[in-house]
Amino acid sequence: MFLYPADERIPNPFHLIDPSSFENLQLRGGFRIVRLEITSEPLIDAIGRQAIARTTIIGNEFNIMIRGGLTEEELSVTLYHEILEAVTVASDNPPAGVRMFKESDFERAAYRANNELGEASPPTIDLMLQSHGFR
Ligand SMILES: [Zn+2]
Repeated sequence: MFLYPADERIPNPFHLIDPSSFENLQLRGGFRIVRLEITSEPLIDAIGRQAIARTTIIGNEFNIMIRGGLTEEELSVTLYHEILEAVTVASDNPPAGVRMFKESDFERAAYRANNELGEASPPTIDLMLQSHGFR
């Protein structure tokens, strides 16, 4: 049996999410992420609470801001959540399975996607949207 050195302090660059890989990403349903920004500024949601992320939808284009300092898992779940929610909200006729989704449903779906598909990336985001019935 071969044991790898147990030094987990060295981050593996192949396991880190690259925010730039989501910029100009074409999504199912004709949508596109035009900008994905990790920000050190506090994000405030529509009713004045601190938020982890904020997505602005302009027509078919999404502008996503995510608070810095999240773990890789939090960042991954947040990406699944924000993108699924944005595509659902922006769709004229979203699939029946997501039409009635509330905030907690998006969060649950995002955790499930992270567990089943792994860390958020352009291909896993596409699989997640496909699994919810987006064409
Ligand atoms: Zn949300």
